[in-house]
Amino acid sequence: MRVVVDHDVCEANAVCESIVPELFHVTDDDVLEILRPEVPPELRERAEQAVLRCPRRALRLEG
Ligand code: SF4
Repeated sequence: MRVVVDHDVCEANAVCESIVPELFHVTDDDVLEILRPEVPPELRERAEQAVLRCPRRALRLEG
């Protein structure tokens, strides 16, 4: 399972980082970095929460 961000709509508000800091990091330049695109099994549940709670609907899971 991979997590993908649409940078055209992400507003770098770090909601996803607050849920899964192991996967997401907002840089000082307000860019969302995906730290681990391939989501390990132990983080899947929280990754799904991040996708659901992103206020911009900028995240999606593939595979
Ligand atoms: S929660 Fe959504 S809008 Fe906010 S930083 Fe994460 S991907 Fe971007």
